[in-house]
Amino acid sequence: MTARTHDVAAITFLGVAFIVSPLEKISLITFVLCILFNQIGGVLPDIDQPTAPFWKNLPMSRPIGRVVDKALLGGHRFITHSLLGLVLFSLLLTFLLRLLKTTNINLHLVLFSFMIGYLSHLIMDSMTKEGVPWLIPITKKLGFPPIKRLRMTTGSIIEHMIVLPSLVVFDLILITQNYSFILNFFKNYLVR
Ligand SMILES: [Zn+2]
Repeated sequence: MTARTHDVAAITFLGVAFIVSPLEKISLITFVLCILFNQIGGVLPDIDQPTAPFWKNLPMSRPIGRVVDKALLGGHRFITHSLLGLVLFSLLLTFLLRLLKTTNINLHLVLFSFMIGYLSHLIMDSMTKEGVPWLIPITKKLGFPPIKRLRMTTGSIIEHMIVLPSLVVFDLILITQNYSFILNFFKNYLVR
């Protein structure tokens, strides 16, 4: 899947988790960090791709991306596209968040939002022909539906014309159907 689809998928999955969870008071900074780290989690697995947006933003991006790709991560759709990758990055993020030493940020929610974004990436990539090695060190790539021919190609017209618009429409329905819930959250549960 392309980065744009992953961005929208990550926020969609987070939105669903938000709607089905009971409301609790959170600080504005927690709210902002949840969205930020959800989006980072949504594209992070693709740092194993030398052409990933992540690398494009760095100087000397392509050579560095290529070295990290082959030497450290084992090529595209390897360790970062697995549950092991999710656990390792979550541990790293937990460590980094602990350094903040602030009581105003709900670190659990930030971590949870990151994991949802990351998981959404693995789920969306599972729907492509290439599949995802969910169970590394078992390197077999798995996908849904299990028959490869029925899955889509990354960047294909199906992704751009069906999958991405469907996610956007789903988000609009989610917002309109839960409008008073969302309004209640912003009015009564978002604190300083
Ligand atoms: Zn990917």
